[in-house]
Amino acid sequence: MASYHLAPLEALMDAMESLPGIGPKSAQRMAYHILRMPEEKVRAFVKAITDAHEKIHYCPVCCNLTDGELCAICRDEKRDGSILCVVEDPRDIFALERVKDFTGRYHVLHGAISPMDGIGPEQLKIQELLKRITPEVKEVIMATNATLEGETTAMYIARLLKPLGVRVTRLGHGVPVGGELEYADNVTLQMSLESRKEL
Ligand code: ZN
Repeated sequence: MASYHLAPLEALMDAMESLPGIGPKSAQRMAYHILRMPEEKVRAFVKAITDAHEKIHYCPVCCNLTDGELCAICRDEKRDGSILCVVEDPRDIFALERVKDFTGRYHVLHGAISPMDGIGPEQLKIQELLKRITPEVKEVIMATNATLEGETTAMYIARLLKPLGVRVTRLGHGVPVGGELEYADNVTLQMSLESRKEL
């Protein structure tokens, strides 16, 4: 039986489909689009992927993304080291930095506790956070998402931090229940920072 199966095309479609939010239809459309792209564009595309992957790593202090030794926020000596804002994702830092009210430092967990997805505390950057709790740190703001996972994570970390004698707060009203920080507008984020409450 003749086979019309093109292995390299199938492999490309599989690669595309492994991306978040990409189903088989979109994967096929993208793969065919790439086949029609000029050689030069394809090379630039591949280089962008490998460059980003090679050069960007976690900041050894706060686990934010960086292409240098430390991330830009950890390098900035003007930031207030007495307040740490704990977020799930590096994209949340971009959102909070837009507000410009927060002058403290951050810590990125890289996810939230989610037993359904098999994500436990040990997969998050919690040990790295605990190591940062020195006498200089007066407050830790839990700025995880207003989802079940985000709330669970905030409570879990608050329980670990309180015995260390640090004030733990949670973002207040503003970010809607089920809401992700990344999609909240500036006013909402500003409000939730101002109305943060004790955990
Ligand atoms: Zn950093």
